[in-house]
Amino acid sequence: MPRAALFPRFRRRGRGWRLGPWRLRTWTWILLAVVLVTAGAMQWTSSNSPIHPPDSSGIHPRSAWAKSSNVDTMARMWSVDRITIHHEGSVPFESNDRRAVARRIEGIRRHHRQELGWADIGYHYVLDRLGEVWEARSLEHQGAHAGTLALNEGNLGVVILGNYNDQPLNSSQKEGLEDALETWMNRFGVEVDDVQLHGDLKQTDCPGTAVRDWFVDWQTRYEAD
Ligand SMILES: [Zn+2]
Repeated sequence: MPRAALFPRFRRRGRGWRLGPWRLRTWTWILLAVVLVTAGAMQWTSSNSPIHPPDSSGIHPRSAWAKSSNVDTMARMWSVDRITIHHEGSVPFESNDRRAVARRIEGIRRHHRQELGWADIGYHYVLDRLGEVWEARSLEHQGAHAGTLALNEGNLGVVILGNYNDQPLNSSQKEGLEDALETWMNRFGVEVDDVQLHGDLKQTDCPGTAVRDWFVDWQTRYEAD
């Protein structure tokens, strides 16, 4: 095979350079090269930057995953008087990789905005497979997770990544969720009866059988203490 067929020719012609069918001026080629190198470097940096463990409060800040800030036009939440537990309910999620968790949460935010037409991700917190908690919508704003405006009022929404009709809730998740619930209950003065599953508020199988089994057990233990 002739050499010319293997390697595209990049040759001078008039005031520019020609590569295959593309004939551009010299400065256009330089600009194109700069853009490609910059884009490549940005991609490399973003896929290789570590996501740090949770901060001193034990929670991953929103900045660890979100591609945009909170939306300030959302209704303010002045107090928290109940907590509702959800699961994602889509395909099971098994990853312990924090970058995968960050991408998954950003995916929920995009789904809530683009498909459901909400201002932002509907939940206030997210629990991953390591039992770690991630901040989602700021607690300064009413959530969009329970079903109606009235149900969302003063209602802290936490979602567990994955589908708990199809996968078990692991022991790290149980521990992380119990710690988080007790922290929120103490901080906001929420009673155990006001911690509920989504299915207790409306007709839905959210948050799945594995979470429901754990919840019955947790409530019993909590009340016995
Ligand atoms: Zn739900």
